[in-house]
Amino acid sequence: MSASSRLSDRAIAPQATPTNVLVVGVGGQGVVMVSRVLAKLCERNGLDIKQSEVHGMAKRGGVVFSHVRFGERVYSPTIPEGEADIVLAMEWAEGLRWLPFLKRESGGLIADTQRIVPPFSCRNRKRGALHGYQTMGLEELEEVVARVVAVDATGVASEVGNRRAANTVLLGVLSSMLDFDPSEWREVVAEVVPPKTIEANLLGFERGREWALQETRAELPTPPEPERPTHAADRVELEIVEAWCKGCDICVKVCPERCLELNGSQVAVLRDPAACSGCRVCEWLCPDLAIHVRILPAQEEH
Ligand code: SF4
Ligand code: SF4
Repeated sequence: MSASSRLSDRAIAPQATPTNVLVVGVGGQGVVMVSRVLAKLCERNGLDIKQSEVHGMAKRGGVVFSHVRFGERVYSPTIPEGEADIVLAMEWAEGLRWLPFLKRESGGLIADTQRIVPPFSCRNRKRGALHGYQTMGLEELEEVVARVVAVDATGVASEVGNRRAANTVLLGVLSSMLDFDPSEWREVVAEVVPPKTIEANLLGFERGREWALQETRAELPTPPEPERPTHAADRVELEIVEAWCKGCDICVKVCPERCLELNGSQVAVLRDPAACSGCRVCEWLCPDLAIHVRILPAQEEH
């Protein structure tokens, strides 16, 4: 995990001029949860807050964004282009797409380096399919954005035991940029997340916050390249987390090789492993992050 700048020394205190936070992601990532946390924090602190949200499709790939504006008095719920103090992006390309909304001189971008490649950008059906996904390295980004934090929030969340806690890792980073009491952040996060996930989410929040507050400037990360096979005999391993699958059928419908199905318990299973090409479309589009595709070198096969 690494950062491109330290932000805590410039925490934004709510003032007469509204503070503008734009939260962006794709369907299922918890954009609305993040804006709910901000709204509750503002209410506790007696601040005026206005929000406007666009809900995407209930699947990965559906874009979701939320404008959050707070201060002593806020009149409009929408952040004009060029006026966002912070863009918090739960997906790398979404962060890039919303850059024009940042304040040119002082705006900060917090972005998960996770990539969710939309299916329409896939150009073939082979393993590690090539795609037309938007890319931009951190160094390029730093030339056009005043402050950038790129964090492997999904990786951190996996380390603390719940991949879906990536949004609270990002909230931890955000907490270092906004002048609210850290104990209030923790209380509000615990109020908003599902009860069974409080521990993992609070841990994720702490990890994000600690990391953002660290003293040293870490090495710049590059967004991960999609895993690609190196040999025709590479093996695909597909894991479906049964407890997370809600049986929505999306993966079954989008699989180009028609090798998935729902079993009698309405859980997705790999019906025909030999047909699976490892294209990752099911992984990208599962709204519950229940599918993980791994491409292993042939020599690792037992
Ligand atoms: S794994 Fe389950 S939740 Fe995910 S897309 Fe397939 S059916 Fe839906
Ligand atoms: S199961 Fe998933 S990775 Fe395998 S071919 Fe279908 S969509 Fe692609």
